Amino acid sequence: MSDEQGTQLSRRSFLKIAGLAGAAVQAGGLIAGGVAAGSDTEGYTGWESFNPATQFFNREPFRIPSPAHTPVGEVRQPSHITDYVFGRVAMFEKALVENPDWTIDDPVEDLALPPPVTAFYNQYPERMGWDYKTFTETIPNHEKDDEVYGNYFMLAEVYSSGFRYHSTMLRRIDSPPEVSDFTNLTRGGPAPIPEEAVPFKSPELATELVKELAHRYGATQVGITKPQIDFFYGDSWQGVEDGYDHSKLPEHWKYAIVIGVPMEWDQIVASPQFTASQDAYNRVSTAAIRIEGMLKSLGYAARANTPNTGYDCLMPPHAIEAGLGEVGRTGFCITPESGGNSRMAMVVTNLELVPDSPIDFGVEEFCNKCKICAESCPSGAISMADSPAEQEWGTGPAIRGYEHWYINNGACYNYWRESMGNLGCRHCVGVCPYSRKDNWMHNAARELDPRDPTGVVSSGLLWMQKNFFDYPEAIEYKRPAEGGRFAVYGPEPAFMDAEKFLDVPVTKP
Ligand code: SF4
Ligand code: SF4
Repeated sequence: MSDEQGTQLSRRSFLKIAGLAGAAVQAGGLIAGGVAAGSDTEGYTGWESFNPATQFFNREPFRIPSPAHTPVGEVRQPSHITDYVFGRVAMFEKALVENPDWTIDDPVEDLALPPPVTAFYNQYPERMGWDYKTFTETIPNHEKDDEVYGNYFMLAEVYSSGFRYHSTMLRRIDSPPEVSDFTNLTRGGPAPIPEEAVPFKSPELATELVKELAHRYGATQVGITKPQIDFFYGDSWQGVEDGYDHSKLPEHWKYAIVIGVPMEWDQIVASPQFTASQDAYNRVSTAAIRIEGMLKSLGYAARANTPNTGYDCLMPPHAIEAGLGEVGRTGFCITPESGGNSRMAMVVTNLELVPDSPIDFGVEEFCNKCKICAESCPSGAISMADSPAEQEWGTGPAIRGYEHWYINNGACYNYWRESMGNLGCRHCVGVCPYSRKDNWMHNAARELDPRDPTGVVSSGLLWMQKNFFDYPEAIEYKRPAEGGRFAVYGPEPAFMDAEKFLDVPVTKP
């Protein structure tokens, strides 16, 4: 650490500790007056709220110098066909269909997969084992379970289908950045953006307006950073053809506006069987597309990266650099407002903006001792190590040249295909102490813990979480044939009670 950084940290520590007394007084008031907030839908932080006040946590005392990511080894851009589990399993499934007699004991070369996928499986054979299990055991088992229990969880899927239907109406980018980012979609059809962009009085005012509008378009959190080539896919961007140069960013990708929204709270607490991402995917995608359109109408190049329409890059590192939160044990960005319950999108643009700095509000230290998500994960996909440097997934502590938490996405994906309800799990989001409604207790914790240099607050909170609350063991989330009961963490959402609403036979596991 440099002297300059040391001085900055001391000043930050002073600011944090100075804020501790005020926060304690504030917490007392919150305890006295805020118990009702726990059951009030107003406390659903940021959910369906179109107001800048959704980003209520004061990040300024917790800013750290940029960048938050420093390489510790040889850097490699992520791959859309190996690192991205959905891309990888889609290719593997296609190869298995074309080679029905192939088994895990045969050479992977016989599957005629693209060379990077073959190389990946040769390097990480345990990942191929997980992907093989997905199609030979997990999905066939799920089909049997679905026949027996599917109707009981039917409304989870039904709820998501509305958002998924909306997502099909959002347009996909079908031309490279040099074309799409300079094309506006008008009522009369596609048209070039204005040749002369409307100037802002300053980058500071441009940033202020962009953030204000992002919230009003539906974003709960918004931050600004510069796009980082290390976190852009090295083999796949929206609308580009084979042979496109993925090794450098287009010149007009100068700034990135990163936004986040939480998934619907009642479902997340009822993880894994009742959770869904589609609602948040849909809302964050819609907000990002609105930002893209707003910028283009002013004459600025813009391109949205969204879960509904496609990504050119990884979101967590950009969200972290933009100061939205910190990386947690699960590998995703934990924000002060909604914890791990944040779905992200990003708009790259050539509008001059003022980047935010990353923040350190204590997640790293908390995650090193918490491990609740790892203990609760039905697939064992989350490391129980005491720090990212000690995690054990066979890839070593450095992932593509950066040291950070990383889940076993093959194991995780298997549980996604095992669970009931809407496709997926998200249980690690539901159990995370940071992913809580905006009630008095979590308001108090949110303000006190990051300002406590002793770690006493976080240890006390963890002790309470682990001793006061009763929740199922990891095995209970699994299928009945494997000793589970398709358990859920919190109460089942009343609006997903199939027995109440549907005139169909249902079997509760
Ligand atoms: S989504 Fe579920 S299976 Fe995957 S890491 Fe999280 S808790 Fe584990
Ligand atoms: S559950 Fe605990 S260890 Fe896991 S991400 Fe949340 S705070 Fe970190």
